Amino acid sequence: MTVNTASPVLVVGSVALDSVETPFGRADDVLGGSGTFFSSAASHFAPVQLVGVVGDDYPVEKLAVLTERGVDLSGVEQTAGSSFRWRGRYRHDLNAAETLETHLGVFSHFAPKIPEKFRRAPFVFLANIDPRLQLQVLEQVEKPRLVACDTMNFWIESRRPELLELLKHVDLITLNDGEARQLTEHTNLVHAARWILDRGPRHVLIKKGEHGAFMFTKDSVFFAPAYPLESVFDPTGAGDSFAGGFIGHLAATGDLSDRGMRRAVVVGSAMGSFAVEKFSNTRLLEITRADIDARVQEFRQLVAFDADMSA
Ligand code: AMP
Repeated sequence: MTVNTASPVLVVGSVALDSVETPFGRADDVLGGSGTFFSSAASHFAPVQLVGVVGDDYPVEKLAVLTERGVDLSGVEQTAGSSFRWRGRYRHDLNAAETLETHLGVFSHFAPKIPEKFRRAPFVFLANIDPRLQLQVLEQVEKPRLVACDTMNFWIESRRPELLELLKHVDLITLNDGEARQLTEHTNLVHAARWILDRGPRHVLIKKGEHGAFMFTKDSVFFAPAYPLESVFDPTGAGDSFAGGFIGHLAATGDLSDRGMRRAVVVGSAMGSFAVEKFSNTRLLEITRADIDARVQEFRQLVAFDADMSA
């Protein structure tokens, strides 16, 4: 399996400046955004094509690290105005981000234009952005093998009808447990997953932060734990990095069987675990393929047990 044989992955998402406070420190105006974290993770497995927008205040030179990793940034527009900024805080419960400020800036007038050369990407990830924009992307792409989307509380509250429309057009959705409960108004996650499956997607991935992730289909449930890290530094971007590992791995193998999808969930968990070890996407850019493979093997150890009850 090499990057050369992998299918391209198109991702449309936010390219942000994040300011984050955690119990261990703070970072201001660092590289962030759903599109950025996804690309940083997915680029370990497949060629990535990123579409997004930044303002004229964006330090675009900071994105060079993505180009070096083979991310095609020709779909990232720079327009007059201020960049998307997100400010968040984590207290001792690192599973729950508290949004202190969401400044849409140039995102409020953004209409994604998918470059001609990106329109046939077999794998499409609609990262966390306005569901109206996610729908606009789908009008421009040509028969992808797999379309996945993400969302968050901000859009569940403000764009619910558009989000429900989007569900009819995606194969897979990733969201965290709180978002699944908010979207479906079911407290039980099995019921929540069923509610979503009834509205379009064939796979629903519900992430539970440090408690792992479930993948639901109409007739199966798979669970992967989160990697038990000794120190979680900044949880920002874990979800997008999970998605980047998951979709990147699928694009690299082309294996969309149940077996392949289950393995991709573990790869996603591994990438999420790297993302939280440092601020911003720093750790994702440091790691090598060998680091990733070693961590995936550690997941095997984590869940291996002898099920022979007579022993
Ligand atoms: P997560 O993987 O869920 O931790 O995503 C974190 C990233 O989402 C941060 O880098 C933010 O810049 C970005 N983000 C936060 N709120 C929004 C929003 N409303 N729309 C798009 N991106 C967002």
